[in-house]
Amino acid sequence: MSKVEWGDCLEYTKAKMNFSRVDDWFSYLIFLTVLVVVIPWYYSAWPHGSNLAPWAAACFGAIFLISLQIPELFFDWFRQFQLEEKFGFNKSTKMLWVIDKIKGAFIGLLFLVLILSLLDWLYRSLQQSFPSTWWIMAFLAFFALQLVLMIVWPKFIIPLFNKLTPLEDGELRDRLMRLAEKSGFQAQSIEVIDGSKRSSHSNAYFTGFGRFRRIVLYDTLIEQMNMDQIEAVLAHEIGHYRLGHIPQRLVVAFFSGLAGFYMISYLCSSVWLYEGLRVPLENMGSLSPLIVFFSLFAGPFVFWMTPVNNYFSRKHEYQADEFAALAMGTGKHLGSALRQLYRENKNFPLPHPWFSFFHHSHPSLFERENALGNVTFSS
Ligand SMILES: [Zn+2]
Repeated sequence: MSKVEWGDCLEYTKAKMNFSRVDDWFSYLIFLTVLVVVIPWYYSAWPHGSNLAPWAAACFGAIFLISLQIPELFFDWFRQFQLEEKFGFNKSTKMLWVIDKIKGAFIGLLFLVLILSLLDWLYRSLQQSFPSTWWIMAFLAFFALQLVLMIVWPKFIIPLFNKLTPLEDGELRDRLMRLAEKSGFQAQSIEVIDGSKRSSHSNAYFTGFGRFRRIVLYDTLIEQMNMDQIEAVLAHEIGHYRLGHIPQRLVVAFFSGLAGFYMISYLCSSVWLYEGLRVPLENMGSLSPLIVFFSLFAGPFVFWMTPVNNYFSRKHEYQADEFAALAMGTGKHLGSALRQLYRENKNFPLPHPWFSFFHHSHPSLFERENALGNVTFSS
């Protein structure tokens, strides 16, 4: 790749960082306003005591959380139609963008009401008889719901936004199915998503577990790569499956979720929290307001867990890269696929190691190329 092209990646990365700096400051401002003005006003005007049914309290909580997204819309618009447009990535129309936002808000509202009312109902029915363990039972229900969502989401929600079609018959499909068979994936089908409807960024991903597993390739990826490269990308995704990365992540999500619910159980009887937020104490009868506060304030704490999560994520990426190289008998194709992916998406190949250590879920291009060069192939 020529110097000019890497220069383009640098420009894009800089533009994205400058933009998110402004966006971050704006978010702090909104956060402070919500903390000092909006929360006390909202929960005094519509108290959420046990006089409200769980579903009604959940509706108030969900509407509150969704409305907080409204100021961010301005930035989303700018990101799509200025920043992405300038670097040639935007493929969405303004109409499609508006429809996406409306659909997203309705779906968000629906799931939030469902989750908040379930948790509030469990809290009210269990808390009397099991004062010290109700939160474990509530968490187990919540976690089971998350597993169901992992199946429901790709099957019913993603098709509301994108069209997924099985990869059509032909040489590419034959080669990919053969590779899947050989590396122990046994795919029913490989699906192609029409990512090109909104953006020319390319990607591939693996979701689900057991019978519900699926590999999805972006149509943009198929357009931008040759067959060897696509095969290498698929081998990498199969690596995530064969090395059990999704179950490992689920275990981590289980324990961090459990810790979160312990915090919720501690906070729901903490008078100081309600007094500190200037929220009338009658709101303590329902769990919905507390979950709203928790989801607003957990972010700054979770932020400091980012490097830990990213450390494991990068480790998984190296492992999946190695798996792909071994499955293909060479690291050459994956190396060139990654290079192509970085170039098409204008990702800067060499970020500062400290920055990368904290923020990046994937190793940089040069790190991955180096690691691929060190894979040992047994003959
Ligand atoms: Zn990966």
